[in-house]
Amino acid sequence: MSKLFGGSGKKRYQAEETRYDKMNYRRCGKSGLMLPEISLGLWHNFGFTDNFENSRNLLKCAFDNGITHFDLANNYGPPYGAAETTFGEIFKKDFKPYRDELLISTKAGWDMWPGPYGNFGSRKYLISSLDQSLQRMGLDYVDIFYHHRPDPETPLEETMGALDHLVRQGKALYVGISQYNAEDTLKATKILKDLGTPCLIHQPKYNMMDRWVENGLLDVLENEGVGAIAFSPLQQGILTDKYLAGFPENSRAVKDGRYLKTNQIDKDLISKVTQLNKIAISRGQSLAQMAIAWLLKDKRITSVLVGASRTEQLMDSLKALENLEFSPETLKKIENVLK
Ligand code: NDP
Repeated sequence: MSKLFGGSGKKRYQAEETRYDKMNYRRCGKSGLMLPEISLGLWHNFGFTDNFENSRNLLKCAFDNGITHFDLANNYGPPYGAAETTFGEIFKKDFKPYRDELLISTKAGWDMWPGPYGNFGSRKYLISSLDQSLQRMGLDYVDIFYHHRPDPETPLEETMGALDHLVRQGKALYVGISQYNAEDTLKATKILKDLGTPCLIHQPKYNMMDRWVENGLLDVLENEGVGAIAFSPLQQGILTDKYLAGFPENSRAVKDGRYLKTNQIDKDLISKVTQLNKIAISRGQSLAQMAIAWLLKDKRITSVLVGASRTEQLMDSLKALENLEFSPETLKKIENVLK
């Protein structure tokens, strides 16, 4: 895919010239910012336990194919902070000349460092965490900074005030929220609007098997002009054909087991996935491709935030963009399986 060229003994990455030919970009809510229909997340496969060259190839493969958006968080690893450090090294080696073609996001809100200031939603935590993230990544600013999850104890005004402050400091260009329910999202967007820093985007979990966003959140986002980027669109790999014949050694459920465990993948689940896989094949798609296309059929979804453990998976997922249309009959068949 990507070309390497010589120069004073060093090889430097040169991005594919065709990188913008196949990707579509969607406007993020009512903002000026366009996001690729598929974005890449660094939650897994970018830790210190992962192969550095594989991580590097994933980012190159993504960018060569029009994926301009890389999503991180302070505690992605393992250990915490490792994904940002790995990203920083790759950025320095390969992506520095492309900074203005990239959207880089990070987050704070979950457990990060010991003591009372390394978790949840205080101004103290958010502001120091972004400073640390910028240092690890070797960046002057991130494009999007998120509050990673709602904090029931901290006043929303304080958390949103911290986001606004970071934009005014020039450390983030835009801000977003993640995992907030519809009601809190509405409150947060109103506070941010009053502060003069509109909420750009919401990052919820959304896939064929987890559809909570359909009960109000997507309506709020549309009404408020906020974009939506769906995380874990493949349900961490369940919505692919990989577990149909058992548990592959190199799969997340076997290899990692922190967030996806083999005992979560039972016979009933596999029966549903088998039926979905048949529908995907009848559309001429892999199940991963159909799962991504199914999300993108809704214009309120700005981008689908995939993970990948190898470039082949990314290339497979990208082909989803070749067919985003669903007939009413196919949608009905899918609903019958998911019931
Ligand atoms: P997915 O649901 O896309 O799962 C990705 C995994 O599925 C891959 O690592 C790989 O697993 C497998 N896979 C991917 N593509 C294919 C394919 N084409 N064929 C077969 N298997 C495939 O997303 P993630 O759960 O990784 O989440 C994506 C991103 O969302 C994260 O990196 C992060 O940026 C964000 N996120 C945000 C959260 C939040 O709270 N805001 C929470 C969680 C995620 P395998 O290892 O088995 O090969």
